[in-house]
Amino acid sequence: MSFAGGSVFLKNYTPAADIAVTAVCYVIFVLMLFSYIRRTKSYRIFRVIVPTLVGASLSNIAFHTLASRSGLGLPALGFHWLNHFGLLLVFYLFVLYICEVTSMTVSHRKMVSRLALFLLIIAAGADVFVSFLGRAVTDSDLSAMNYSNWIFMGAYIIFAVSCILLMRAVQRRLYHRVMMGFYGSVILSFALILIQGLVFQASFTCLSFLFPVVAMFYIMHATPYDPEMGTIDGSAMEDVVRDFHDKNKPFVYLSVFLPSLDTEEARFPDSIRALIRQITTRYFRNALLFRVGKGHMVMLILKKKNPDYERRIEKVLEAFRDQQRIYRTDYRIVIGESMDVLSRKNEYVPLIRNVQRLMRDETVHRVTMDDLKAHDRSNYILHQLEDIYKTHNLDDKRVLVYCQPVFNLKTGQYDTAEALMRLMLDDIGLVMPDQFIYLAEMYGYIHVLTEIILHKTCEAIRRLNATGYYIGRISVNVSMLELKDEHFCDDISNIIARSGISGNNVAIELTESQNESDFNVMKAKIEELKQKGITFYLDDFGTGYSNMERIMELPFDIIKFDRSMVLSSSANERSEKIVANLAGLFSSLNYSVLYEGVETDQDEDLCRDMSASYLQGYKYSRPIPIADLKKYVPSKSRAG
Ligand code: C2E
Ligand code: CA
Ligand code: CA
Repeated sequence: MSFAGGSVFLKNYTPAADIAVTAVCYVIFVLMLFSYIRRTKSYRIFRVIVPTLVGASLSNIAFHTLASRSGLGLPALGFHWLNHFGLLLVFYLFVLYICEVTSMTVSHRKMVSRLALFLLIIAAGADVFVSFLGRAVTDSDLSAMNYSNWIFMGAYIIFAVSCILLMRAVQRRLYHRVMMGFYGSVILSFALILIQGLVFQASFTCLSFLFPVVAMFYIMHATPYDPEMGTIDGSAMEDVVRDFHDKNKPFVYLSVFLPSLDTEEARFPDSIRALIRQITTRYFRNALLFRVGKGHMVMLILKKKNPDYERRIEKVLEAFRDQQRIYRTDYRIVIGESMDVLSRKNEYVPLIRNVQRLMRDETVHRVTMDDLKAHDRSNYILHQLEDIYKTHNLDDKRVLVYCQPVFNLKTGQYDTAEALMRLMLDDIGLVMPDQFIYLAEMYGYIHVLTEIILHKTCEAIRRLNATGYYIGRISVNVSMLELKDEHFCDDISNIIARSGISGNNVAIELTESQNESDFNVMKAKIEELKQKGITFYLDDFGTGYSNMERIMELPFDIIKFDRSMVLSSSANERSEKIVANLAGLFSSLNYSVLYEGVETDQDEDLCRDMSASYLQGYKYSRPIPIADLKKYVPSKSRAG
């Protein structure tokens, strides 16, 4: 039998494109093995797509080779069918993939995948029929192949149109640029098929399937390494933990936090880069290193691959100690072993952050049961904070206002005070600020807490002043982060206005920030609120690296000298001179000076001699519930 002059599908074929598909898929395989791949659920489908496409391409090569050598016998038609089936299967897997990455609802997914499966079975079945059974009926190999090609073309068009419609239907669920990446690859595929048809070619069908596969690989599964250090973006850690958990692979985590390098501007010194590059490869086998923060890396080490991990960890610690000795790079290292409860909820990074927050520099900490308990507690607090945030009730019973009276040296009375926040939570009782303020700031819940505190404080001021007491003002602590919110000034003004008190009765305490961009924001907002009569305190002066020039540029009224200034000036004369001079400078520039943390009579005497206007500390009162403030504040008749 001869097929010269027969179908264009046979004549105009060169295996080059199919070989290229196989080669590119081989490269993808290599990358899947040796680079870090995001192991999302959709990755399981992707892992089937790649070999299926290779199978289809190889079948196509086999078909054409057999056909040209020994005509269209059963074996040739078998490979022809396999090639079609492979490509239709890829289409079917594309559909499943789209359902998976767009997190379609179970019922929709069922419907869509069943329709696709139905199409696959019908097309593949019809193809079998005309290729093998039909051959007997028509007794012509060539027409069997031609019919089979028509069936394939029909199924191709239906599948292609369905995929496009499906992508359009779910496009809102994916980030626009991701979607455009897919569309771009699909357009290229169609263009190729179109050109192939126009020039009567038959070589590029499999190649047209490769473009979306490459797009999927690049867009959805590749996570770039930092080529210098070999770290992977932290977002990928969740996938790996899930994967290890599913496959029951126990691991050790080793977290390295470099506080001095944990800022936007920090540049990693070469020595640290080299050390980090070596840790994963030289000290451990198959360890993965994730960059979960600017100066924070977490390494996952499989126990099976590194049975002597304890010894290896010791070597890493030794290397860090050397590094510190030579280059003075601060570090905090946390080490722990995988646990079911943590893996299930992917809680390693939050746990590590909790542990490391309380660590000193140059220390190594192994996670204990107590850490896990503390972590549970902070998780509980976090959930409560989230609920407080969502409920957004300014009278929320869980948020308590405590208050510390401040002694005014000029009037000799407690006519101002500072509001201090506490939480009262069902399961754990009273919670102090050091256990929740950082969480509220980290997760963006702090502003709602400030609103609640301000509202309750305003109510207390109104009540005091309406019942014959006199309170000049109460200050509320505000986080720098909040000032960035464009509604900040309106929120504050509205709460004060609604309570019916004057802006003069309220003060805001702010802590200095190192950040340049914060400065201008801070200044504009302070000026706006000062128009409403609000007083501004600079909190914790003397704890950071103060920039005097900047402080002077901001319209603060009162400078709060931190307790550490009081302590150091009572400890040595040199410090006392510095503090006294600073305080003198501020008061000569019309700022009032407030000393915090005055605990003893000696502290008080010292502060009086150092230009104090206000004194605050345990000597006068510990923080008390705001309702008890009446015990301290003067009554109207005594007010100065
Ligand atoms: P801060 O603003 O510097 O508040 C003063 C802290 O010093 C209070 O701790 C107070 O109880 C404590 N203190 C007062 N007198 C003395 C003393 O004589 N000696 C010593 N050693 N300590 C004294 P507290 O209430 O635990 O608050 C801790 C921090 O939490 C506050 O420091 C503030 O930064 C933050 N915070 C408290 N309430 C709020 C709030 O409503 N909003 C925000 N954003 N932060 C708050
Ligand atoms: Ca304060
Ligand atoms: Ca303070």
